[in-house]
Amino acid sequence: MADCLFCSIVAGDIPADIVLSNDHVIAFRDIAPQAPVHVLVIPREHHANIGELATNSPQATAQLLQAAQEVAAAEGIGDAYRLVFNTGADAGQSVFHVHGHVVGGRDMNWPPG
Ligand code: AMP
Repeated sequence: MADCLFCSIVAGDIPADIVLSNDHVIAFRDIAPQAPVHVLVIPREHHANIGELATNSPQATAQLLQAAQEVAAAEGIGDAYRLVFNTGADAGQSVFHVHGHVVGGRDMNWPPG
């Protein structure tokens, strides 16, 4: 999609520190990490948010969640991590190409704020 930052990363037009890549998903390190491990997992196909993805493509949703677990395991946090999908600007979403934040490697607080 034109003017989508994460589509540009998928296309290879903008560099990223990619940690996983398959036919459906790529995962790359967040440019502003909030924890020792902070990786974004995204579908190659453009969908605005997790709700849209889940509605339009349950299979792609499952592939995304599987990839998140693979990333967490590969990063050594497979048994304790947070997977966050900010959905909507008021909830903190700033890039409108669905992405899960895989965050871990430190103690987490709840509620997240
Ligand atoms: P959200 O606020 O949930 O939409 O998350 C967007 C995330 O994308 C933020 O954590 C940003 O730090 C991250 N981000 C923005 N631009 C880049 C980039 N070029 N490479 C990697 N992460 C990015």
